[in-house]
Amino acid sequence: MSMHYDVIVLGAGASGLMLAAHAAWRGRKVLVVEKANKVGKKILMSGGGKCNFTNLYVEPENFISHNPHFVISALSRYSNWDFIGMVCDYGIAYEERKHGQLFTLNGSKDILNMLLAECEKAKLVTLKTDCELKTVKKLDNALFQVSTTQGHFSCESLVVASGGLSIPTLGGSGVGYEIAKQFGHPVFPTRAGLVPFTFSDQFKEVTTRLSGNALDVTLSNDKHSFTEALLFTHRGLSGPSSLQLSNYWHAGESFQINFFPAQDLIEYFKLKKQQQPKVLLRTLVSEFTAKSIVLELQQLIWSDYADTAIAQLSDTVLEQIASQLQSFVVKPSGTEGYRTAEVTLGGVDTAEISSKTMQSQRVHGLYFIGEVLDVTGHLGGYNFQWAWSSAYAAAQYV
Ligand SMILES: Cc1cc2nc3c(=O)[nH]c(=O)nc-3n(C[C@H](O)[C@H](O)[C@H](O)COP(=O)(O)OP(=O)(O)OC[C@H]3O[C@@H](n4cnc5c(N)ncnc54)[C@H](O)[C@@H]3O)c2cc1C
Repeated sequence: MSMHYDVIVLGAGASGLMLAAHAAWRGRKVLVVEKANKVGKKILMSGGGKCNFTNLYVEPENFISHNPHFVISALSRYSNWDFIGMVCDYGIAYEERKHGQLFTLNGSKDILNMLLAECEKAKLVTLKTDCELKTVKKLDNALFQVSTTQGHFSCESLVVASGGLSIPTLGGSGVGYEIAKQFGHPVFPTRAGLVPFTFSDQFKEVTTRLSGNALDVTLSNDKHSFTEALLFTHRGLSGPSSLQLSNYWHAGESFQINFFPAQDLIEYFKLKKQQQPKVLLRTLVSEFTAKSIVLELQQLIWSDYADTAIAQLSDTVLEQIASQLQSFVVKPSGTEGYRTAEVTLGGVDTAEISSKTMQSQRVHGLYFIGEVLDVTGHLGGYNFQWAWSSAYAAAQYV
């Protein structure tokens, strides 16, 4: 005999806990199975320990999916303002950082404790940790049978909230994709997202030498561009601008770096040629960023003219140098992969999932929420907002 629940949730992460709380309020008896020894590990690690729990400006354009309209319904039914309202009800202190990003002031545990308190309210949620899902079966009586490392359970509604492949040590697993395939749902190929770039060409030596330095840049490919901080690392490029562009990068592609997005360098160089004919380019560029970065750029771009006064440089040469500084092409050899990626791109195809209820249109009673779906947010609190919104939508129907 297996123990019966109305709802079984696979994964006690952001979306699983949110769903459990809201389903219990509707009087549903919920079991959440979590393979890790603790619930909500990614929440605790998120946002550098401060959890960027949502954003003031949430638009469908902040999400990547093969089906871009899929997010609209859930995001409008449970918005960033709804989640901010709950954070305020709990008296959690938070701050707004750049680009409308909201972070807790006293740590991510405030968000996790809030979700756990919400799960407690109706006294209908059971959380089982160290409980790994092994197999799922749909029985003849329309119930699901779930086998775990702690025994068998049955339920009417099975919610797959197992997240993506990123950071295996924090619970990243492919089990959600396997369940989707088992029940006939197509799954888009997955790849690491919001992840640093790595290099193997000579640019790697530059990033290694500059490791730890940062500056505000614009990174762009043919379709997307992000103006934010760039961080040099021992392995390549990181920082918000790199993480954002990584969501739109495929192996083998190059992209451009504008090292000085706030300047019109060619105009500036021409002006200085008149005003200070003896000045060196590195002196001029040093006004905008650290000397160590300027010396590397000099080596890469105008080493032949390192000690030439600006008046000796033709306008054509100045134009070429300015253009290199403002659209420097780099070609990563790869990314750091799932080991450090914040999210997984791709996943369960939304074409056969209801955008209103998150229920499978193939299998009655089967739901997919959060990151396991083919929905990935930009950096900035959008991935959690998707977890909250998709969980809330499904919780009304499970
Ligand atoms: C380091 C880091 C920092 C981040 N910071 C932010 C941020 O500040 N803001 C933001 O919006 N997003 C952030 N993200 C992304 C965000 O954490 C995820 O998008 C979000 O947690 C996804 O929620 P989820 O419920 O779909 O999956 P998760 O939160 O990953 O939860 C899935 C759960 O399922 C469990 N599980 C997996 N397989 C099994 C199995 N077989 N049996 C039982 N349980 C299983 C896992 O252990 C895990 O607890 C960050 C991610 C990382 C890795």
